[in-house]
Amino acid sequence: MKHIDEEKINRLIQLPQCSRSEFDAIIEKSKNLQRLTTEESAKLLAVKDKELIDIIYSTAKYVKDTIYGKRVVLFVPLYINNICVNECQYCSFCKNNKVTIRKKLTIDEIKEQTRILLERGHKRILMLSSESANEDDDIEYFVKAIEAIYSVSVGKNKVKRINVNLAPLSVENFKKLKKAGIGTYQIFQETYHEETYRKLHGKGPKSDPDNRLDAIDRAFKAGIDDIGIGPLYGLYDYKFETLAMFEHIAYLEKEFGLGPHVVSVPRLEPAYGSEISQSKKYAFTDDEFKQMVAVIRLSVPYTGIIISTRETAEMRNELLNLGVSQISAESRVSPGGYERLDDHNAVKDVQFKLNDQRSIEEVIADLVAYGYMPSFCAACYRRERTGKVFMSIAKPGNIKSKCDINALVTFKEYLEDFAAPEVKKHGYKLIEEKLAQMPETDKNVVLKFFEDIDKGIRDEYV
Ligand code: SAM
Repeated sequence: MKHIDEEKINRLIQLPQCSRSEFDAIIEKSKNLQRLTTEESAKLLAVKDKELIDIIYSTAKYVKDTIYGKRVVLFVPLYINNICVNECQYCSFCKNNKVTIRKKLTIDEIKEQTRILLERGHKRILMLSSESANEDDDIEYFVKAIEAIYSVSVGKNKVKRINVNLAPLSVENFKKLKKAGIGTYQIFQETYHEETYRKLHGKGPKSDPDNRLDAIDRAFKAGIDDIGIGPLYGLYDYKFETLAMFEHIAYLEKEFGLGPHVVSVPRLEPAYGSEISQSKKYAFTDDEFKQMVAVIRLSVPYTGIIISTRETAEMRNELLNLGVSQISAESRVSPGGYERLDDHNAVKDVQFKLNDQRSIEEVIADLVAYGYMPSFCAACYRRERTGKVFMSIAKPGNIKSKCDINALVTFKEYLEDFAAPEVKKHGYKLIEEKLAQMPETDKNVVLKFFEDIDKGIRDEYV
């Protein structure tokens, strides 16, 4: 596979635990918010001593809090189509999967799903779709879907930003996505191990691993400068995947002067009609998973880390302390799934099983209980703080102040418009605590916006 030197990675995953002085030097680099090399990251992945793992954890927490503060951005996925031309053996949307109930949402159905989500308090949507045989038909549908989502309002609330997780497109079609107003373009490589990739992806456009890698290059060339990547953990060795992702990032940095805005760490979950998705061959322990997430935080300190509802509530809460900066809430991974209030996993139109089915309110209550500020902010996209501009603010540690202000403002909007009395009470207590810790100038900006919210004004940001 392009940009991935498998021999180098295979050598790095065999490394024994490094000496204490080497370990300390890497941790020192991380505390200075410096990006780690793939080799340094491999050394942290190889650590086995509990005491040293605890140091990796506390450093990951320090790095996350220093760059992004205590805010956690919330989003919700919106699946619009599960009729797919590809043959990904781990996915229930696989073309040959006979058990999956298929659906492509109409534009009116997409508006209805958006309305349901807005009524629950969501503001940031990740739009996902399967792939058809005709890219031009797909892009036309995607652009109409994006316009439809942005057109819906519930009271004073509208969707602030749509990010997308979609199959590779041409530069020309990526330009259409950008014009439609997307934030981040996300695409998972699934596996960076070429042989495994070719084995798991039968016929169809997805069968070429290099075309998938190149999608990021084409998105950059089309002017989409916030991109999201990640492997699907569980298809191959987790250390290989993580180090290969770091090599992919190093390539992007060298070629475009910019790495990903976010990385995701999805783990394989059981999918109806897919034997491979039930396989434990490349499963790894929760402790290994936590260490890996913390190492990603240290390796790419300026990149957001996303954790989805594939993980349990307990694991998601734990990962907040290890560098995760964005989480989804009350997800349904099926087109039209938000109309149902039954058990998500029971209906055979879902892509895979979910382990966290808490409502957005329960997720928010937990964040508040752990001292994290829920945020619905999308200000950076709207102020054109994307790509290199974003990084030039984030690297000297200056994005945190904007994150803090926008988190408080968007959270107060949520509390006023959607929260039940108990959540509101605890939410305001957290806001008071955060305000007390803020520099005076930032606090004044927040208080001015708060006055506006009390007057009924919505959606102000810095
Ligand atoms: N058509 C788009 C593409 O080609 O990337 C969207 C893919 S899908 C809607 C989003 C992601 O779900 C996939 O990229 C894959 O990583 C993940 N996924 C598929 N099957 C899964 C499973 N059994 N467990 C967990 N995640 C899965």
